Amino acid sequence: MILNKNRLLTPGPTPLPEEVRLALAQDMIHHRKAAFHDILRECEEKLQVLFGTSQPVLPLSCSGSGAMTAAVYSLFTPGEKVLVVNAGKFGERWTKIAASRGLEVLELTVEWGLAVAPEDVEHALDENPDVRGVLVQLSETSTGVLHPVREIGAKMAGRDVLLVVDGVSGVSLCPCPMDEWGIDCLVTGSQKGLMLPPGLALLALSERAWKRCADVTPGCFYFNLPAERKKLEKFETNFTSPVNLLQGLKVSMDMLLADGLDAVFRKQWALTQLTRRAVQAMGLTPFARTNYTWGLTSILLPDGVDGGRIVADCAEKYGAYLAGGQDALKGRIVRLAHMGWLDWSDILAGLYALNRTIIDNGGFCGAHDFLEQGMASYRAALEGEIGVEPPLVHD
Ligand SMILES: *Cc1c(COP(=O)(O)O)cnc(C)c1O
Repeated sequence: MILNKNRLLTPGPTPLPEEVRLALAQDMIHHRKAAFHDILRECEEKLQVLFGTSQPVLPLSCSGSGAMTAAVYSLFTPGEKVLVVNAGKFGERWTKIAASRGLEVLELTVEWGLAVAPEDVEHALDENPDVRGVLVQLSETSTGVLHPVREIGAKMAGRDVLLVVDGVSGVSLCPCPMDEWGIDCLVTGSQKGLMLPPGLALLALSERAWKRCADVTPGCFYFNLPAERKKLEKFETNFTSPVNLLQGLKVSMDMLLADGLDAVFRKQWALTQLTRRAVQAMGLTPFARTNYTWGLTSILLPDGVDGGRIVADCAEKYGAYLAGGQDALKGRIVRLAHMGWLDWSDILAGLYALNRTIIDNGGFCGAHDFLEQGMASYRAALEGEIGVEPPLVHD
């Protein structure tokens, strides 16, 4: 047996800071008493900063898909038409949830690995004036792509169409200021960038989405957003709160916001540059050529190398847990996540494991100094402007 330290480099769940784990280990407090109200009050202030909104941010006891469901079932009534951007597994999930609510779904399908063009959203809305909402991912985790949500929001300005954004693998990893970008509903989950275990979701609505919500009979008993909002005014939730997850959230939000959100985004940008550059130096191609997300890097494997084998070997031999591809990408890509409580050293470990296992499985290794090349990009990204596409590296 090899005494490896296990490293979760998966796009959820992600590693937790010790401070958060200790907070989670506390005994229960009652969810309708003052000590709990204090925790939720503090969380709420910080969540509004994280979401970039003056509206309440509702905690929901469910995974991210639960919050997606709550959004669809609270904002639309059966028979209404929505436009779904489907560029991967999670776009497909919007479609399935909307269909389960009895909505008419118009899909804007985008080739996996690409981001949607804002003009295509605009065109679809021009052609379909009866569309009531646009459902899109901020970050499409199955392909590693970042959709241009800000530009979509700009194209939708002046229309009576709700912009509903699944920010589960993007919020707290890259900028997504809800009010500024004209987002009507933003959801996220606890187990990605927030450095918490799974089981808690967060959802915020714009003022006009709250108005829409008031006209919609909630589609199910459990997710009743107006009732949640009313309870949140007293710093409570409608049903029993996920008490220890919220105790953990208070600590993780303190940590995330200690140096401001910009510092968080800079770190994520730098880790992304580290990973992309090292992968290119290995002779591999990032699957998302442009518009790549900041919380994970999807990597196309050389022909003949089985991604399932690579993921298994990285875990078994090096304790590095990466994710494989889904559907058509199964076996063809691996996804190395850089989200949650990890830093450059964890990423170097993952990159080394990836490189060695590819070589051991008959692939090639590219430049020997791939880790140093990655670190050079990391250091440059810590200094330079963030969010700017670097030139493609060809060596
Ligand atoms: C992880 C994730 C979700 C939520 O998945 P759950 O398993 O329900 O938490 C939703 N959307 C995206 C983009 C994700 O990455």
